[in-house]
Amino acid sequence: MDYEALFGQAVDKLRAEKRYRVFTELARNCGSFPVADNYSGIGPAKITIWCSNDYLGMGQHPAVIEALQQGAAQFGAGAGGTRNISGNSHAVVELEAELADLHGKEAALAFMSGYIANQTSLSTLAKLLPGCIILSDADNHNSMIEGIRQSGCERLIFRHNDVAHLEELLKGLPAERPKLVAFESVYSMDGDIAPIHAICDVADKYGAMTYLDEVHAVGLYGSHGGGIADRDNAMQRLHIIQGTLGKAFGVVGGYIAGSKAMIDAVRSYAPAFIFSTAMPPAIAAAAAASVRHLKTSQAERTRHQERAATLRRMLLNAGLPVLVNQSHIVPVMVGDPALCKAASDMLLADHGIYIQPINYPTVPRGTERLRITPTPVHTDAMMQDLVAALLDVWQRLGLSRKAA
Ligand SMILES: *Cc1c(COP(=O)(O)O)cnc(C)c1O
Repeated sequence: MDYEALFGQAVDKLRAEKRYRVFTELARNCGSFPVADNYSGIGPAKITIWCSNDYLGMGQHPAVIEALQQGAAQFGAGAGGTRNISGNSHAVVELEAELADLHGKEAALAFMSGYIANQTSLSTLAKLLPGCIILSDADNHNSMIEGIRQSGCERLIFRHNDVAHLEELLKGLPAERPKLVAFESVYSMDGDIAPIHAICDVADKYGAMTYLDEVHAVGLYGSHGGGIADRDNAMQRLHIIQGTLGKAFGVVGGYIAGSKAMIDAVRSYAPAFIFSTAMPPAIAAAAAASVRHLKTSQAERTRHQERAATLRRMLLNAGLPVLVNQSHIVPVMVGDPALCKAASDMLLADHGIYIQPINYPTVPRGTERLRITPTPVHTDAMMQDLVAALLDVWQRLGLSRKAA
């Protein structure tokens, strides 16, 4: 058996479909983000990152770095074990109290990533509810889909953000069976936002629990950075709020927040929580510092929204095909995988601009795009450079100016 050839064939298939992924090797130097060193190709070159999920630049915030350094000096590097066996750090318990407070919930539980938080929480919750049916938004993230699949429960998919369809599905289900509605607040690829109250109205009407992924909203929306549910005064209506510490909070890790009983059950039954080494205390301290800072400081959020609005306006004025939405995510549509990759390559090689191409399966075929995420540290001059570079690339590749 030629195992190597089988792996090669699998990857060749991706190449043929023009969706073979090439990683860009970077050094994000603390203090100079969004400018970074690109180590792909010939030696390090200065580039400007336009596709980071470190949405506010908190990854280089002095209070966060200080907490990380102090945490390492005080507690060392690792956790030393699982939460059950010697790894239940004081710093992680404090972080969880901070997160529960952020979402106005009784309790929270930290994981090593948002992906694991979704996957293991959803599969565990659904298994603990006998006969549970999960209603899942069609555009839900892979981490939720995998969690739902692992639960082995019956699953119904409602059309993206379509409350009427959700109700139609709920209406047909037996009243006595437990139900869980799983959805996101800000959808990361189109940047559109869920009607949280309307979804909760329908869920309440049919006695369903609600599970909201706020990964692309925590730190960014609401007067305390609790996300869209914080902004919309809906936090108390949701049974489970899930988030990440790796995007706007700039560190790493994920969590869920909710009732004491629910958190206790996930803590007690979720395999990826029980059988895995806990988050290092220094990481927990850094994440808590970031959460704490963004609970009171509005400056980053205000500037972030202004930067996103300014860039969107500049791109539209230049006639580029921006997918307009109500969030901080600025997708520019290409609609072809090879051209999307070519545009990204040209931006990097000829303009020192890094925007990773977004191709299938992250987005549906034919909707390939450049997903731009302006941050508070992107300047007007950087934006002018970006618009000029995009216009050059659009012209050289003969790309469409029509909005998607
Ligand atoms: C990135 C992402 C996650 C996973 O969070 P990580 O902390 O990066 O593992 C979960 N849900 C959504 C919608 C995401 O985009």
